[in-house]
Amino acid sequence: MADPKSLGNFTAQDAPTYESLLQCMRCGFCLPTCPTFALTGRERSSPRGRVALARAVAEAKLPFTEAIKEEAFFCLDCRACSTACPSGVNPGEVMEICRSQVHQQQSLPKWQESFRNFILQKMLPDPGRLESSMLPARIYQKLGIQWLVRNSRILKLGPRWFEKAEGMLPELHTPLRQRIPELNLAKGEKRGRVGFFLGCVMTLMYAEVSRQTVRVLSHQGFDVITPKLQKCCGAPHLTEGDRETTRQLAAHNLDLFLELDVDAIVTDCAGCSAALKEYEEILHERREIDKLAKFRSLVKDVSEFLVEWGLRTEQLQPVNRSVTYHDPCHLCHAQGISKQPRELLKAIPGVEFREMNESSWCCGSAATFSLKFTAESQNILDRKLNNVQNTGADILITANPGCHLQLAWGLREAGMPQPVMHLMELLGQATPE
Ligand code: SF4
Ligand code: SF4
Repeated sequence: MADPKSLGNFTAQDAPTYESLLQCMRCGFCLPTCPTFALTGRERSSPRGRVALARAVAEAKLPFTEAIKEEAFFCLDCRACSTACPSGVNPGEVMEICRSQVHQQQSLPKWQESFRNFILQKMLPDPGRLESSMLPARIYQKLGIQWLVRNSRILKLGPRWFEKAEGMLPELHTPLRQRIPELNLAKGEKRGRVGFFLGCVMTLMYAEVSRQTVRVLSHQGFDVITPKLQKCCGAPHLTEGDRETTRQLAAHNLDLFLELDVDAIVTDCAGCSAALKEYEEILHERREIDKLAKFRSLVKDVSEFLVEWGLRTEQLQPVNRSVTYHDPCHLCHAQGISKQPRELLKAIPGVEFREMNESSWCCGSAATFSLKFTAESQNILDRKLNNVQNTGADILITANPGCHLQLAWGLREAGMPQPVMHLMELLGQATPE
């Protein structure tokens, strides 16, 4: 018998709301913004087509078919379509929720299910385990095995995704969570107190970037508290359709950070700030409305925060380089933050800012998309690299670790000389020790 609470052929738990599907008026304004539609020209791989598929499932006109399962994971969740949509539809979010349906409605082979559960439910929620899991990679780099592997052709013998994953690995350092003091005091005249949300990829792969972020915040006059007990924001779980683990992580982080009594909860990872800002919706059945609203009002991307409070520029040293900026989708489309990073870049003395064409077009990273769909990801990336090249800038700046990994790999593979830097790394260069 059909579940009376379910929506058509969706199961009751974690289905898109019918209202979110009805809002689409099929105008097509979203079509030119969608990278997967640009790649395929297929209606079903467009925002409008994806919403139509989900609506047909909700109205029980279609079963939860292979087509919708494929589209749920082929969508980059870049949210460019929601920026363009005059009707407030969010096809990326609809597809993200459909990923949870995929896992409810299809059973994986036992070993795949166990592996997925281990990563999502045991590894990612446990910072200690995550840090231990990176130790072999650090040894691999330290002993020079990486150099040997990269200079042989051995990786060409394996699958393309594996070669790419290895090629994307940045230089690893001791995870920042293990060495950063819980409290970094404000320098100069104190302006406030912030909680720092240290994302998993940032502490493991870009520890030096987040170290600079904390240093800059402290130089800007803020006490920075980095609680050791914080956990993953839950974004990877949303991406992989495990919304229940996201809820558990969100409840933990929300309670922990609200206890700190800070002026803001700041992060330098666009994927994390986008997920933290969604806690209000994710936890609406588990926490009181006022707590959720308070948490939502406190969460800030670091560029948003610094522009709101005003950047102190008196002590900044010149950085005499030309730079261009790639907008991370989870910053510009998911959070509407695009002016603030540019404002900060232009405030650094000596920096020459060069705008690139299509700066808010996805880079093709999109969590695991770049490894699951290597050819399509490369195609999207090539368009971005071409736009970077046309600026002639010395440095490519971005503000999200997923984009950073993809762009740094792409530039190196293409033989282009520009380094990729996080915005806070550049601001760190301009900030005296
Ligand atoms: S998703 Fe929005 S922009 Fe796209 S067709 Fe529907 S209403 Fe139009
Ligand atoms: S989120 Fe991105 S890839 Fe997905 S439908 Fe929208 S524009 Fe296309």
